[in-house]
Amino acid sequence: MSKVIYPGSFDPITYGHLDIIKRSAAMFDEVVVGVLSNNAKSPLFSPEERKRMIEEAVKDYNNVTVINFNGLLIDFMKEHNISVIVRGLRAITDFEYELQIAQSNRKVSKYTIDTVFLTTSIKYAYLSSSIVKEYARYGTDVSDFVPEHVVIELQKKYGL
Ligand code: ADP
Repeated sequence: MSKVIYPGSFDPITYGHLDIIKRSAAMFDEVVVGVLSNNAKSPLFSPEERKRMIEEAVKDYNNVTVINFNGLLIDFMKEHNISVIVRGLRAITDFEYELQIAQSNRKVSKYTIDTVFLTTSIKYAYLSSSIVKEYARYGTDVSDFVPEHVVIELQKKYGL
């Protein structure tokens, strides 16, 4: 049985992330979306809020679950018997960072963990949670970028 983890900040989830989740769900038996709680970036949404927004967005996929995790990803994976990470690749700029993380995770896990990369769908290639937040903060419509329930949560956060 193939079980993978798709880790990230998801602050908040975008259609770009959802595209990767849906494609992974079609490819693997079980997809765990891992929401990183201890983030160096200071997130807009709490880990619980981010988790709930993802759960709402993936509710029709019965092989996708969402969890919050703390600490090192590879420790969490060992505890839960997961050996494959899924990450999305948008552009060359993602590549260098992702390659470094993937290779170090492989080394530190004593070559028991591998990373699979899915290239982004072209229509979401420019999309990031940061860009969405920047637009939403100034009241710009972001409904082309995130699901409706996320649009509402963003408006609440920014007092709009
Ligand atoms: P992190 O803070 O770990 O980079 P993100 O939530 O920004 O977490 O992203 C999680 C994963 O989703 C990463 O692999 C990232 O490359 C991928 N991703 C982000 N935006 C998109 C997008 N628009 N299309 C495809 N993949 C994306």
